[in-house]
Amino acid sequence: MVFAKAAIVGVGLIGGSFALGLKEKKLCGRVVGAGRSAANLKVAMDLGAIDAAEADAGAAVKGADLVLIAAPVAQFEKIFLAIQPVLAPECLVMDAGSTKRDVVAAARRGLGGRVGQFVPAHPIAGAEKSGAAAADAGLFRGRRLVLTPLKENKEKDVQTVADLWVALGARVSRMTPEEHDGVFAAVSHLPHLLAYALVNDISTRADAAQLFGYAGGGFRDFTRIASSHPEMWRDICTANNDQLLQELARYSAELARIGELLQTRDAPALEKLFTDARAARQRWLDGDYE
Ligand code: NAD
Repeated sequence: MVFAKAAIVGVGLIGGSFALGLKEKKLCGRVVGAGRSAANLKVAMDLGAIDAAEADAGAAVKGADLVLIAAPVAQFEKIFLAIQPVLAPECLVMDAGSTKRDVVAAARRGLGGRVGQFVPAHPIAGAEKSGAAAADAGLFRGRRLVLTPLKENKEKDVQTVADLWVALGARVSRMTPEEHDGVFAAVSHLPHLLAYALVNDISTRADAAQLFGYAGGGFRDFTRIASSHPEMWRDICTANNDQLLQELARYSAELARIGELLQTRDAPALEKLFTDARAARQRWLDGDYE
């Protein structure tokens, strides 16, 4: 499984890390990047993640036998439309988007009859950092990767994509796009929303300077992901808004329940809730759910 030419559309944290991983494992002859920021593409070139840069996705994809789309998800339809006319019949296309129902719908609209060449994927790896400068060849090592194959995919293509991510160190599993978006609404999209909301609430108060001045490790840990890229999270929250609203309603109900325990000063119930949550988190940290 060695590709002659890989095209990376969106050479940021994820696209740049994938390109570096391909090079480290010698899985590709040549890597061409496409993006909308010339400065970022230059960083990717300087890092050795890509060998050449194109402003246009179609130009980068011409002659490629592997394509990774790693731009914010609202950009995908435009990218699919741009690459469809130049896509070689044997070229494998995959993505790294954090949502899947919208990405699959965009692929159907943008790739039309070529949609079978597209194997949707989401690496559960990342960080609050963005851009090629944050790229790391080892980003996917030991991390999960979810494939949401299409009925139009050939099984051998899905397997090639899985093998590729395994070669970069990922642990691959499969879900439907619906299942994927439900799971990540709960354990990824909601936490990001909460972190942004808390920082926003504190920062817009009259005494914000004093509050931030005394904020410590707990605040830092809870809000780390509020440093994530706003455009990326705007797109994820918009694309998955129905599932996210359901999670927000559940979480609001849990907060209301905790509010009642505070109102009634029900210390034993509060302690039980904290004990149960701590034990559940420990089981997760111990790898019980792997
Ligand atoms: P990033 O901001 O680091 O990189 C995105 C890159 O896409 C940027 O370089 C940007 O210039 C480029 N871009 C934007 N519009 C484009 C377009 N129309 N054509 C070509 N390039 C374009 O973001 P990232 O963290 O690498 O995320 C990329 C994708 O991976 C997103 O879809 C995101 O949902 C997904 N993802 C992110 C994480 C994470 O934690 N950061 C994890 C898993 C998946």
